Amino acid sequence: MASLLPSALPHPLPAPAQAEQLEALAADLRAAGLMPLRSSGELEQLAADAFVYSPVLQPLLQGLRAQLGVRAESADQVLAVAAACVRHGVSLTLRGAGTGNYGQATPLAGGLVLELSGMNRLQQLDPSSGVFTAEPGILLADLEQQLQARGRELRLLPSTVRTASLAGYLAGGSSGIGSLRWGFLRDPGHLLGLQIITLEPTPRQLQLGAADAQAINHAYGCNGIITSITMASAEAVPWQQWVLEFPSWDQALVAAQQLPATALQLNALCALEAGVALWMPWPKGCPPAKADGHRLLVLAAPDARVALDALLPRWGGQLVWEEPQGQSRGIPLRELCWNHTTLHARAHDPSFTYLQLLLPQPEQPALAALRQRWGDDVLWHLEAVRAQGQQRLACLPLVRWRGREALDDLIRQACDLGCLLFNPHAITVEDGGLGGVDAAQVAAKASYDPAGLLNPGKLRGWLER
Ligand SMILES: Cc1cc2nc3c(=O)[nH]c(=O)nc-3n(C[C@H](O)[C@H](O)[C@H](O)COP(=O)(O)OP(=O)(O)OC[C@H]3O[C@@H](n4cnc5c(N)ncnc54)[C@H](O)[C@@H]3O)c2cc1C
Repeated sequence: MASLLPSALPHPLPAPAQAEQLEALAADLRAAGLMPLRSSGELEQLAADAFVYSPVLQPLLQGLRAQLGVRAESADQVLAVAAACVRHGVSLTLRGAGTGNYGQATPLAGGLVLELSGMNRLQQLDPSSGVFTAEPGILLADLEQQLQARGRELRLLPSTVRTASLAGYLAGGSSGIGSLRWGFLRDPGHLLGLQIITLEPTPRQLQLGAADAQAINHAYGCNGIITSITMASAEAVPWQQWVLEFPSWDQALVAAQQLPATALQLNALCALEAGVALWMPWPKGCPPAKADGHRLLVLAAPDARVALDALLPRWGGQLVWEEPQGQSRGIPLRELCWNHTTLHARAHDPSFTYLQLLLPQPEQPALAALRQRWGDDVLWHLEAVRAQGQQRLACLPLVRWRGREALDDLIRQACDLGCLLFNPHAITVEDGGLGGVDAAQVAAKASYDPAGLLNPGKLRGWLER
């Protein structure tokens, strides 16, 4: 297998804009009432994301900057920005909150960065169906609060719920809290419509239905500027947070396999082996992890508690802490799972990076084979997910960085054992979560961004066409 780790930026990339192009663009932005941002501090802030978790991406992406930045607060302003970029042939990269892990919002070839945190309203919520429409820059935590006030909640949330934007999650994220019930963001049924602005010579504002919107879903902003999002929501549940502890990893794993197969209503289940649990900043009142205490972090409906009491002895586990979500002090469980586990582990030991795998079933043989070869250089962190209608375990192992060759070997072995890789050390849409070229994404780019100005270098299918 050839290396799946990039050693250079994708190509071909457009040349950065010339000084005259930038001046003409800045003049057009000012004429539209927008303030071009150009100080090195502003441009640095508009380029960074969490690609530092990858020692493969960090040397490739650090130092890359836009040449100009701008914040827009309305669709009319976005139309003006799009028209100005096309007029002057300057590339355009969208930015939400900049919490992506693969440099999704980092411009590879200079140009302009457009930030939409000012477009942050919940525009509509249908009380009977729960379908909502919101602007792209709304923070997920704000959106969640507004939905909950009306008895609804988001089906899926990243662990960055407090900082990430709705459009950034849709265009750059994939899964998270809720994936145990609701699968992945790209699964049909979550995204029901989009309003986008194109980068054609005369930019258009288009309303796309669910089918056409799917090509823009998880496309890193390469084929349209999202200005409004319509999605399904779920009935709000007062989720309870549980921390369960097991004396052996095998027992914790059995519980992680069997809990999602019960009739308990669960929203998340994260399994941390003892070495990882030791590094987590547990909520106030939760006992610190023991050196041999393997933990499950669970979000469950209140009525699940009675059934848990009957199940736990079967697996040899015990409930060591419980609090309703939103009422505990310190860091809530949902900020200890998904890639927040990686964040906290790296705070303890920055020599760790991570991988993202969907484990084959049964999971034990693959995990045992990997442990046998890699020992404590690979530490287990699992997340329960629903993949194509089936309960599965995803794995975000913490991996001690021993260089590219070792990471390549680990990936190769994991794939040989039947794991499906969602590579967090990749720059393009296809080489990361998507796995292959989606012809619909490339066709949408040809229609809506014929000059290839949007987030250049990130859509491999466009580069190879
Ligand atoms: C600690 C940590 C934990 C994380 N946990 C999760 C998790 O649980 N699940 C998960 O899926 N991800 C997770 N992520 C990754 C990231 O947080 C999510 O992808 C997040 O939702 C990105 O939102 P953002 O607003 O920061 O987007 P950004 O990083 O700013 O942008 C993401 C992509 O969206 C594009 N984009 C932004 N706005 C628009 C727009 N208006 N139109 C078109 N394209 C646009 C950008 O160009 C970029 O390509 C995690 C990251 C970190 C650092």
